Amino acid sequence: MSLDRIVGQERAKAQISAWFASQRLPHAVLITGQEGVGKRRLALELAKAINCRQMPGVGCDSCSSCTKAESLSHPNIHILLPLPTGSSRSGSDAEQFAALRETALDYLAGGSTSRSGSNLPKDHILLLQREMSFAPTEAPKRVAVIFAADCMQKAGANSLLKILEEPPRHAVFLLVSSAPDRLLPTVVSRCQRLPLRPLRAEEIRAQLMEQGLAPERAELASRLAVGNRLPPANVGGEEFDAMRELVERFIDSALSGAEEEYWALLEALGGRPDKQRMEGFLGLCSAYLRDIFLIGLQRVSQVANTDREPRLKNWSERIDPRRLDGVAESLDAAFESQRHNVSPQLLLADIWHQVRRSGSVNA
Ligand SMILES: [Zn+2]
Repeated sequence: MSLDRIVGQERAKAQISAWFASQRLPHAVLITGQEGVGKRRLALELAKAINCRQMPGVGCDSCSSCTKAESLSHPNIHILLPLPTGSSRSGSDAEQFAALRETALDYLAGGSTSRSGSNLPKDHILLLQREMSFAPTEAPKRVAVIFAADCMQKAGANSLLKILEEPPRHAVFLLVSSAPDRLLPTVVSRCQRLPLRPLRAEEIRAQLMEQGLAPERAELASRLAVGNRLPPANVGGEEFDAMRELVERFIDSALSGAEEEYWALLEALGGRPDKQRMEGFLGLCSAYLRDIFLIGLQRVSQVANTDREPRLKNWSERIDPRRLDGVAESLDAAFESQRHNVSPQLLLADIWHQVRRSGSVNA
C-alpha cells in the first residue's frame, strides 16, 4: 500500500501533500481519530513516504526503502508501542528494538495491544532518544512512530517532551492516539495535528476487502462499525465469532432468567477480561440491542447483524422496548467504568439484570 491508496481521509492526505510540496514537514505530527479509522496504517505509510526514494511524499511501495519500511526493518524508522507492564525489557538497544519489531508487526496486522496494564515505559522513550540522535544512515530522515502514545506515563512523556523541545534536525516524530486528551498538553502543543475522520460504511467495506476480508464479512463489519462502537478490525477471525456467540448467549440467558448460564458465560469470557475484550463484548452487546430496537420499529434495512434476523425478531417480541433505555444506560456506564478498572463482573451483572428486566413483562 502507499499513502494514495489509503481509503478515505482525503483531508489528511491533502495536508500531507501540502507539507511535502512546501518542504515543511513538521518535526512532530499527532495522528488522531477513533479506533478503526486507519491511524496505524496511515502512520506507517507516512513514515514510508518520508523515506521513499522513487516517490518521496507518496511512497512507491517497491523501492528498497519502502520494502524495508513495510517489514519494519528500515534502519531509520523506529517503532514504539505499549507493552504489558512487567514484560522483559532487557538487552542491548538493538535487541530491544528487535523485540519491539515482532510485537509491532502483529499490531499492524490488526492485532491488539492490551491497553490495560500496558504502558510506554520511560526506558523505551530514552532508547528512542538515543537512536533518533544519530544522523540517518540511508535516508533523508529518521522517523519515530509512537503508537497509542496516550499510554505514556508521566516520566516517559516528560522525556519525550525534552526531545520534542529540541528535536534533532533530521528527526520526525509521528505520535498516534485515539485519546489525545490523555497526552500531556505540552506534548500536544509541540505537534501538528493530523485528525482522521470516521469512515463511511462503504469506505470501511472497501478497506476491509482490500485487506482480504470476504465481502459478506466486510459488509457485516461496516454495519457494526457505523452507528455502533465496534472497531471494524475486530470483525474478522474466529475470535469474533466466539465473541458473538458469547453475546448472544448472554442476551438469551438474561431473557430466560438462566442464572447458571450467566455464570458459565462469565467464565467463558475470562475471569478478568482485559479492556480490549470487554470493549469488544460491550460493543457487540450495544449493536445487538440497537438491532432489537430497530427490528421493533420495522426498520430492518438499518439492522447491523443482518444474518441474525430471525433471532433478533424473536428477542424483539420478548422485550419491552420502553425498557431498553435502562439497558442502554447501563451499557454506557459500563463503557465508561471499565476505563477506570471497575470489576467487569459488576458491570456485566448490571447489564444482564437490565436486559432481564426489559424482558420480564412478557415472561
Ligand atoms: Zn519507495
